[in-house]
Amino acid sequence: MPTTGKISLYFHLPFCRRKCPYCHFYVVPQNEESQKTLLEALELEWQLYRHRTHGQRIVSIYFGGGTPFLMGPSGIRQILSWINPPPGTEITLEANPEDVTLEAMQAFAEAGINRVSLGVQSLDDALLKTLGRHHTAEAARKAIQTTAEAGIQNITIDLMYEIPSQTLSSWQQTLDQLSSLPITHLSLYNLTIEPQTVFYKKRAALTPLLPSSDESLKMLETAVQTLEAIGLHRYEISAFAHPGFESRHNTGYWTGRPFLGFGPSAFSYFEGERYRNICDLKKYATALKNGSSPIDFRELLSPTASLHERLAVQLRLLTGVDLRDFPVDPALLQNLVSKGWLEIDDHRARLSPQGLLFYDSVAEEIILI
Ligand code: SF4
Repeated sequence: MPTTGKISLYFHLPFCRRKCPYCHFYVVPQNEESQKTLLEALELEWQLYRHRTHGQRIVSIYFGGGTPFLMGPSGIRQILSWINPPPGTEITLEANPEDVTLEAMQAFAEAGINRVSLGVQSLDDALLKTLGRHHTAEAARKAIQTTAEAGIQNITIDLMYEIPSQTLSSWQQTLDQLSSLPITHLSLYNLTIEPQTVFYKKRAALTPLLPSSDESLKMLETAVQTLEAIGLHRYEISAFAHPGFESRHNTGYWTGRPFLGFGPSAFSYFEGERYRNICDLKKYATALKNGSSPIDFRELLSPTASLHERLAVQLRLLTGVDLRDFPVDPALLQNLVSKGWLEIDDHRARLSPQGLLFYDSVAEEIILI
């Protein structure tokens, strides 16, 4: 069948050994029974929606969570056997540094994984403790090396700033270690204290320990400078990559490529509709077993609202957007230019350095409520 478009797949594998105190994702403790329940449900969900991939080229598959590593290579192999992705598909697995072994990574590579995302977060032992993580900086460095040794050359890591008690010099020390590590991509996050987390309950004690807004800004600037200097170019507000290693999967989110999400709490975006699965493994699995829909939230944006949302999201890319693809009210763009947040050059619009800093405000101006 000829392909008419591109599509991505996301699998939410929600198991974690324990919940990190800042985490607001849907995660559950891992055991054999829930793993079996999830795999059976995922297969039913795949059968239900696989027709949506017909005639589309699957460009990326992302196993996120949770800790998808805990499904083991056999679980991942099983899921990929239903899909039979074409050669060249970017297939990413999220993993925690403390779990990585050479044997496991070799087995994942054999199962089809060609990109690994490691939750490093920091290379400062004291801050890793603050974050409730169960690896050390040494274990994180080793996990990166081991993954590369296992033959998986495309390695991305997550790093976090604005952590309680984090100093500029500790942040610089973390950044300075990156040049010696075989990473191809990095996602940079600032810690946010979200409701329904342990950190939220402790926010009164934690807030005074957070870096000031001036320090946070300096941390971001230092990160951008250091990463650019080691060849990891900033291609999206929070993503850095060696040329050619930009995340194909995430670029799909930023450019409005359709994606199908499988598993409890997974989001999808297909034919202009955004929908989410039930955030509860048992209820999600029961719905599928009973032949009913696992979706509990749907949103169909009007064509205009969808256009504005796509513009806001695509502006996250540093290459910006071609305005001929976004026929929005010129007054909206002019307003952003006059605020100093947007630069327009011929048909291209890009966020200015100020716009990159105040992206949330930019998006608020563009997105129609
Ligand atoms: S390992 Fe990741 S998904 Fe699991 S609890 Fe920690 S932050 Fe959340």
